[in-house]
Amino acid sequence: MPVNGKLWNSRLISKRIGAALPAALAGLLAAAPLACPTRAPEPRARPADTVRSRPQDSGVDDRRAMGAAPDVTAPPDVAAAASSGAYSRAALPVLDIHTHVDPTATRTVLALFDARGIHTAVNLSAGFEGAGLEEALAQQRESRGRILPFCTLPWRATAHPQFVSESVRILERCRALGVRGLKIPKVLGLGARDLDGSRLRVDAPRLDPIFAAAERLGMMVLIHTGDPKAFFQPANPQNERWEELQAHPSWSFHGPEWPSFDEILGEFERRVLRHRRLVFIGAHFGNAAEEPDRVARLLERAPRYHIDTSARVPEFGRHASARMRTFFTRWQDRIVFGTDLGLGEDMGEWMLGSHGNERTTQRDVDRYFSATFRYYEGDDAECENPTPIQGRWNIHPISLPRDVLAKVYGGNAARLLGIAWPPP
Ligand SMILES: [Zn+2]
Repeated sequence: MPVNGKLWNSRLISKRIGAALPAALAGLLAAAPLACPTRAPEPRARPADTVRSRPQDSGVDDRRAMGAAPDVTAPPDVAAAASSGAYSRAALPVLDIHTHVDPTATRTVLALFDARGIHTAVNLSAGFEGAGLEEALAQQRESRGRILPFCTLPWRATAHPQFVSESVRILERCRALGVRGLKIPKVLGLGARDLDGSRLRVDAPRLDPIFAAAERLGMMVLIHTGDPKAFFQPANPQNERWEELQAHPSWSFHGPEWPSFDEILGEFERRVLRHRRLVFIGAHFGNAAEEPDRVARLLERAPRYHIDTSARVPEFGRHASARMRTFFTRWQDRIVFGTDLGLGEDMGEWMLGSHGNERTTQRDVDRYFSATFRYYEGDDAECENPTPIQGRWNIHPISLPRDVLAKVYGGNAARLLGIAWPPP
């Protein structure tokens, strides 16, 4: 998810992490630059030329009978969102490896998951010990193991000489508490500072002990590097993600102070290739949904490398159906389903892969799930994309066979996490 995603999430997480930094790093943080530089917000203007690509289609919604009944204890808006029931046509259980969920909103989140066929999810915003992890572990228990935490590290303190050694210690504690994975956000490469104040590169050798520790501890590393290509191009009306960039000016990485898309992707690829026995998951279609051939080359070279699909159906869905069906078939054991949902108690604040300035509505939630499942399962020539703010274009469903769907929707991630699948 974006570094400065929905407010409930970023405020909650940064407050907790700031308050609970290890003593060795806390002093430094007061003087440290923000992890990811932000720019002054622009007026909350909405582009006038946002023509919907197509009216909501009921192709998948009509299978609502397959959806579970909404939890009657859920807040009314969630119960309503649940009852409209966009659901996987294949009725296969889903394991969502890429979510950000408020640990205080477990009941609300589970009601949504029940309604949409998501059995298990990984919460990538679980922080670390003293900085949110305890709450995330409580959520894991409360959800009976349906919401699993991946920890993170104090990325705002990377310029501190003890950042790496402290991070190794944090990882060891996380693993001892049962955490199976580490999430690395895009701030590494886009904002984090090295000892001398320069940009800390994703493949900086100084960070090697962190990855070595993850490997030694049997943890996987889910890593988000860079962002959509368009964010590295000039932010103007010609930019194909202009609508999204207007809503979030700080997501623009165009200019001499930023690395190029290719440069940062190269750093990421070298990082993955340096740790051959570590299970990496490249977030957002391997951080390169625009270039499936490049993603495939890394999958070929790094046998334990996987990719998640989160927040990029609108991007990789633009490629021709036949090309992407071939890709998913070829890499059916190495692709894991993800959404990048950001979920709290208030549905209006939910993030569905991306978001604008308006409150999220039930219609947005319906469209998001309908279009997502329709992409994987449908055989239409095209359909609307799940997250229109990412671009007002249609996508091309790929009609995957059931056995491939079963792996991508849950089987692969369950194998990595060591949990029984399909769930009992
Ligand atoms: Zn995310």
